[in-house]
Amino acid sequence: MPIFENIKVLLDESLEKKLRKLDPAMGSFRILKKSLDARRKDRLHHLYSAETFPDPVAPPYIFETPTRVQARKDLPTTTVVGAGPAGLFAALWLLERGLPCQVIERGKPVLPRMKDISKHWRHGQVNADSNVCFGEGGAGAFSDGKLITRIKSPFKQFVMEQMVRFGAPDEILYLANPHVGSNKIRTIINNLTKHLHENGCPIHFDTRAEEFHWSEGRLEKIVTPDGRVFKSDNYVLATGHSAHDIYDKLFAGGVPCETLNMAMGFRAEHPQVWVNEAQYGSRWEHPELPVANYKLTCHDDRTNIGVYSFCMCPGGYVLASSAQQGRMVVNGMSNYNHGSAYANSGIVVTVHKDKWFAAGPEAGLKFQADIERKTQEKVWAAGGTIQVPAQRVEDFLNDRVGSVAKSSCPSGVIAVNLRDIYPPELTEAFTRALQDFNRKMPGFMGNDALLHGVESRTSSPVRVVRDDEKLCSPKFTNLYPSGEGAGFAGGITSAAVDGIRVAESICKTLT
Ligand SMILES: Cc1cc2nc3c(=O)[nH]c(=O)nc-3n(C[C@H](O)[C@H](O)[C@H](O)COP(=O)(O)OP(=O)(O)OC[C@H]3O[C@@H](n4cnc5c(N)ncnc54)[C@H](O)[C@@H]3O)c2cc1C
Repeated sequence: MPIFENIKVLLDESLEKKLRKLDPAMGSFRILKKSLDARRKDRLHHLYSAETFPDPVAPPYIFETPTRVQARKDLPTTTVVGAGPAGLFAALWLLERGLPCQVIERGKPVLPRMKDISKHWRHGQVNADSNVCFGEGGAGAFSDGKLITRIKSPFKQFVMEQMVRFGAPDEILYLANPHVGSNKIRTIINNLTKHLHENGCPIHFDTRAEEFHWSEGRLEKIVTPDGRVFKSDNYVLATGHSAHDIYDKLFAGGVPCETLNMAMGFRAEHPQVWVNEAQYGSRWEHPELPVANYKLTCHDDRTNIGVYSFCMCPGGYVLASSAQQGRMVVNGMSNYNHGSAYANSGIVVTVHKDKWFAAGPEAGLKFQADIERKTQEKVWAAGGTIQVPAQRVEDFLNDRVGSVAKSSCPSGVIAVNLRDIYPPELTEAFTRALQDFNRKMPGFMGNDALLHGVESRTSSPVRVVRDDEKLCSPKFTNLYPSGEGAGFAGGITSAAVDGIRVAESICKTLT
């Protein structure tokens, strides 16, 4: 069918009318790509690619199913540890290819997990196994549900199509910035886990991998705290970057790991209306315009440190998202409708491993933990209990506590001086970046601008080494480290793709 590319549609124009001019015989059409060009505020427009059809109803988007491995009696079994995007997509791929597998997950299904999260936000009690990061869907389930990724992989399209299969709107297949929001991602994940369960891949909740038994270059078995034993031919380790206890077990077992750079900082929040006006100008209320976001970067020449905005959540909420009691961590999320009056985004500084934790992965984890503990202690010292520490940008620049404006954070905020949380060199780079961002987007340091502490879990400081081709640990060849915690992904889609990559690698051992 004819495909038309780069169709420019101004806000008051209609794509359908434009397509009808290009293809007078058109009965229906399907959008293949849609992006917003907001570089010139007086020429705001969408760019489309679309396919037209003579029939009045366009055919559905196609779902590819992988070819099944030929049934054999000796098919190897796999235990997937962790039901985040990496673990669930690894299990889905194995299931679709016809290989037996099961998933073990330390947390709970979404609904009981929500009760535990509520206890965290309302009473300050963090459940070490069931929280914003742990449970059905992993950190992905309470994420912002942005599905964009910069990685290139043949499996990316499969992941997006499966998201639609399990409940995401079709638009994620063509939007430049696909987003399903926290409310929809939970439903999608729930449908995916139900599908796995009902088709022969059991998911064991409340099941923490506690003991790892290593023998002769292989992982022999995993034992839970209540003595249940999980034994299989292969293991996918997809435990995410918040499971610090897992890293200790890997270090103790001699599993090769290496250090990665981190990016840490604060979560900035502004009124959404200000972001909309800053990005779109006078037409910001036009119904064809999505809520606006921003992407800012700066290289601080004096310290030679990069600073950038990360994981922006327009119309979103700032959340306390620690998986450990006594450690303060924040993140952001929004629902599909971007309904909150605030826009938040991580503003993070690159923390170079060679400078700050050259001693190795343990030192990287300690650096992270120390910052998070110090931030929580500041909350307690200020008389806070459940609140997230916050500071107006202006007060941060002037090194004073001041008072805090309103925030979207469901557990509330408390005024704290965040200026001495990080080593001075990182704070200096961060400060100059704020000034640079304020030049690029006047008002970035405005009266209503708030910083929340701390954005410390943008990525894993540890990579679990794996063989480039086989994707297994070079020392324990039936162990397949995967996803964000293993240092091979940074986000929902890339973690899901990495899960599929290791699952496919397990399939390849059969040929
Ligand atoms: C609030 C928030 C918002 C986010 N927003 C976005 C976004 O909009 N877009 C985006 O791309 N990314 C976002 N992220 C990041 C994204 O969620 C992660 O990158 C992604 O979930 C990583 O997937 P994963 O499968 O590698 O690990 P995880 O999702 O972390 O899953 C790991 C799982 O392993 C389980 N586990 C850990 N230890 C054990 C054990 N010992 N035994 C059994 N199970 C164990 C955990 O309980 C968890 O369920 C967000 C994260 C948060 C917290």
